[in-house]
Amino acid sequence: MAQESIHLANRVLQVPPSPTLAVNAKAKALKAAGENILNFSVGEPDFDTPEHVREAGKQAIDDGQTRYTAVPGIPELREAVAMRFKLDHNWEYHPDQIQICCGGKHGLYNIFQAMLNPGEEVLIPAPYWVSYPPMVQLAGGIPVEVPLDEASNFDLDPNILAAKASNKTRAIFLNSPSNPAGSIFSVTALQAVAKMALERGWLVVSDDIYETITYVEGKLPHILDVEPRLKEQTVVLNGVSKSFAMTGWRIGYCAGPSHLIKAMNKVQSHSTSNPCSPAQYAALAALTGPQDFPAQMNKAFLPRRDFFVRDLESIEGVTCVNPSGAFYVFPNFSAYYGKSFKGKVLKDSVAMADYFLEEAKVASVPGAAFGADAFVRFSFATSMEVIQEGMTRIKKALTALEG
Ligand code: PMP
Ligand code: GLU
Repeated sequence: MAQESIHLANRVLQVPPSPTLAVNAKAKALKAAGENILNFSVGEPDFDTPEHVREAGKQAIDDGQTRYTAVPGIPELREAVAMRFKLDHNWEYHPDQIQICCGGKHGLYNIFQAMLNPGEEVLIPAPYWVSYPPMVQLAGGIPVEVPLDEASNFDLDPNILAAKASNKTRAIFLNSPSNPAGSIFSVTALQAVAKMALERGWLVVSDDIYETITYVEGKLPHILDVEPRLKEQTVVLNGVSKSFAMTGWRIGYCAGPSHLIKAMNKVQSHSTSNPCSPAQYAALAALTGPQDFPAQMNKAFLPRRDFFVRDLESIEGVTCVNPSGAFYVFPNFSAYYGKSFKGKVLKDSVAMADYFLEEAKVASVPGAAFGADAFVRFSFATSMEVIQEGMTRIKKALTALEG
């Protein structure tokens, strides 16, 4: 093979490309080539952005809002985010404590670029969203997994947390409802995190991107409500991608201590300058307009979740925790590992997901990508018909396995 002339940075070589986006691209390419693929891979609402939000985006372009904006985002949008935090949570944030970023993913990236030194550790409850460890590694840090148990609905065990913490720990991720399991951390778990974070001065990174997509009554437990004294040590990450079906607009937001947000703004000023101007005006319309859109989506997601979980649980050997939020099911297929098809042994979640794609024409994401190899993730942000057909194919494929 020819020698590449430019060598690449070690920090880039140590991380894989995003597996969720990679499977989605593969599924789309197969579909474009004429294959009858059912795509359960990428997680994005199968709804259009609400009309009044799209109109606000178009209007912003016509009004000439097409130039650079302030680095942390337009003041009106930062004020709107502060207003939402106040109305939805009774949390007080000054607009200077808020950064608008190019999607929630970018906000998380900014956080670690701003606060992590080489060799410092970040605790990541696993299963985790695929991009958490690479974000830490790209900032020179070391991701440390804190395993969560399916048997306790993926809640956090304070003893395991304590065992994984070290004197190099600088931060901990919380993601509740979570991607990929849709699980919610209990008040008890959050109290344990809060106690350790306060004692040891950790930054708590609370990724609340699925906050509005829930199937449980009432307000979800949140670290800032469990321990308000943690506000100066917490950065809250949210955005409009999931709540307003705006994945392609790329607008997220972070709220946290002023000096951290200021440092993140410095990073942003040298990387993206600002988030897309008209998209910020669209997000402004989303946050200041009617707030019933997520509930409308949830109404559609709920029967899909119920069907998916019930049908998966009806398969011998498969278990599936009922997700309390987000739009993923995360069944455990490990009882099928070691079985084979046409002489090929399916040894892990990557082999399982490959088998589903090749034999059932069903695209899913292997649990290994989320740090949990026993599982495979399916997004139910797709129609009931697709889910029903997908389950028929999955069951047929599992029946065809030998051993
Ligand atoms: N956090 C989690 C857990 C996610 O699943 C996503 C979805 N990509 C994000 C953050 C970021 O979403 P976005 O960049 O589209 O705002
Ligand atoms: N968060 C979604 C997912 O997990 C979108 C893809 C991504 O950015 O990873 O599928």
